[in-house]
Amino acid sequence: MIGNAMSEPTFATLVSRWYERNARDLPWREPGVGAWAILVSEVMLQQTPVVRVLPAWRAWLDRWPTPAALAEDTPAEAIRMWGRLGYPRRAVRLRDCAVAIVERHGGEVPDRLDQLLALPGVGTYTARAVAAFAFSQRHPVVDTNVRRVVCRAIAGEPDAGPATRPADLVATEKLLPAEPAAAALASAAFMELGAVICTARSPRCAMCPVESVCAWRASGQEAPSGPSRRPQRYAGTDRQVRGLLLAVLRETTGPVPHQRLDQVWPDDVQRTRALAGLVTDGLVEPVGEDSFRLLGDGPPMVPLS
Ligand code: SF4
Repeated sequence: MIGNAMSEPTFATLVSRWYERNARDLPWREPGVGAWAILVSEVMLQQTPVVRVLPAWRAWLDRWPTPAALAEDTPAEAIRMWGRLGYPRRAVRLRDCAVAIVERHGGEVPDRLDQLLALPGVGTYTARAVAAFAFSQRHPVVDTNVRRVVCRAIAGEPDAGPATRPADLVATEKLLPAEPAAAALASAAFMELGAVICTARSPRCAMCPVESVCAWRASGQEAPSGPSRRPQRYAGTDRQVRGLLLAVLRETTGPVPHQRLDQVWPDDVQRTRALAGLVTDGLVEPVGEDSFRLLGDGPPMVPLS
């Protein structure tokens, strides 16, 4: 359980001042960027680095500047546009989300937290991030970076691990200023601090705006200890085979014969398993006896207008 041991406004004020001077210049932070664009950025950024998200985010919004535009297109096109961002189920969920926004909210991203949480593919983090960053509301926005910052600076523990718990929301909420816009700014600032200064393996404490009040720093420890995270193996995994199968399906409009997919990987058992996983995940669907295609590839299955 993370506790609070210092003057809470001081912490948020220090981090927010630092953020205003040092925030990275990212397009989804620019004034006037709408809630849909911010929602897309948050979904893309969850499991993909900023540098890879930047061109994909721009291309996505050029093609689908509104939820209605995406809702009228097929899941297959969403998967195609997702390209190699990884974890492509996010593309299908984002389209499902766009359809729900059209059907439930007239095409406008809702500003109420309960309505955001009810959208497909929008979880605890994403809903609060959109409410804070698009609508300047006061909500604790807790991703892995924020959890680590709060854990170190407030509780004096070296790291918080990956999972966000209800106690983390409570601990972070206590740090936020009362005024909603200031709280939203502080939320963005906490995230930035964790992303660029209080990083998992190499915190730059000497450059940190809260070094003087950081409980973990005050404990005298030099650097967080713990096992280095090994890079995940990719070559030879089912993930690689799924990526190869999806690449063929993305490059082809409509059904692809089984024999063409057989060429992407020599191991029959692994290839069959990977293809079955794509079907189970709702990314690929069988067509007839012996072909497969991206989900809904072809004309829109359910025209919305
Ligand atoms: S002083 Fe170091 S450990 Fe504490 S919040 Fe800053 S970067 Fe993280």
